[in-house]
Amino acid sequence: MKSDDDAFARDRRRQLVLKRGKERVAANRHPWIFAGALHAERGPEDAALADLVDASGARIASGFYSKQSQIRLRALTFGDEELTPELLDARITRAIARRKPIFDDATNAARLIHAEGDDLSSIVVDRYDDVVVVEIGSRGAERLKPLIVDALRRELAPRVIFFKNDLPARALEQLTTTAEQIGDGAPRTTIRESGLRFHVDPAAGQKTGFFLDQRENRRLARTLATGKRALNLFSYSGAFGVYAAAGGASSVTNVDVSAPAIETARENHALNGFDATHLVADAFQYVRQTREQFDLLICDPPAFAKSRHDVERAARGYKDVNLFAMRLVSPGGLMMTFSCSGHMSLDLFQKVLFAAALDAGRRVSFVRRLGAGPDHPVSIYCPEGEYLKGFLLEIH
Ligand code: SAH
Repeated sequence: MKSDDDAFARDRRRQLVLKRGKERVAANRHPWIFAGALHAERGPEDAALADLVDASGARIASGFYSKQSQIRLRALTFGDEELTPELLDARITRAIARRKPIFDDATNAARLIHAEGDDLSSIVVDRYDDVVVVEIGSRGAERLKPLIVDALRRELAPRVIFFKNDLPARALEQLTTTAEQIGDGAPRTTIRESGLRFHVDPAAGQKTGFFLDQRENRRLARTLATGKRALNLFSYSGAFGVYAAAGGASSVTNVDVSAPAIETARENHALNGFDATHLVADAFQYVRQTREQFDLLICDPPAFAKSRHDVERAARGYKDVNLFAMRLVSPGGLMMTFSCSGHMSLDLFQKVLFAAALDAGRRVSFVRRLGAGPDHPVSIYCPEGEYLKGFLLEIH
């Protein structure tokens, strides 16, 4: 693919003039510059890149331009730093290099590029063995796809590069929402993670096919599971369940509302030579109805808050499921509980667990805070990147 180097030429870029009084926005180096912070726009509307300038025309930041999105600019550089094809290529290369320590004989899947956390706003890249899955969430980044593809091919030589193209932002930006791929064969693959094996189907699965962000927490679950009756709520493809079984759990129960997810969970347990109970069920109902008790409970629901306005409703959902889940934990048992809503702060999540514990009538302490693994770095300037929060709770 030929890289669209012309897109970097100064006269091919959109110029965004910052409103007076909005200087703080850019001075704080947050990469999202919203339409409301702009006084005017000039230059080519179809530009891939834009420069943010002050009233005197001095450049403040440069990055991916989006005509349609409220996030008009995804800043990649600030001040004097020049936005060039070489700079983007170097950031991709560096992001991949940072993950080298994660890959070994036991693990061949990890997130390679985590958007803002790798100074590459709106670009996410996951590696599943010989398959690389790309999610692009802005028009500007989409225009520079050839550059991204060149770098991925050079660094990884994957069998398939799969563009999932299913982010809601893409429809808003009038980008294709049909999947695309480069390379031969289905994007489906069987990965190794911590010496265990998992089927991953990026085309049909949720997210990019697997919840790579939970790797470290699954490893923790494995160390805690010995001799325990484990319940894996919102199990998806059963990954926490497989780890619990590998750690010597006396029983494993996976619960998910999605029949295909449970089918994959069944396959993943079989693939690793483990038995488990697999239930297609609504977790909210299951936790109310079951009479069983568990010694290790994992609760990893989907993001209930998709926007800021949803937070209150989401908090009620988290409280509800955690309250009933706590009641299923045997005295002295453990619970790993998560929120992956970017809009739910750690502080609010802790308050939700406080309310759940109170109503459950249990004595609860947290042993550890949990989060995403090191392949999901968070930019200090963009704390929104820290979406996954969790606690290891001890329940009496
Ligand atoms: N812990 C998993 C990821 C969980 S993702 C892992 O490590 O792989 C959240 C899952 O919740 C999805 O699989 C989704 O199908 C499931 N889900 C959503 N709503 C649900 C509900 N009401 N009851 C049960 N499962 C639900």
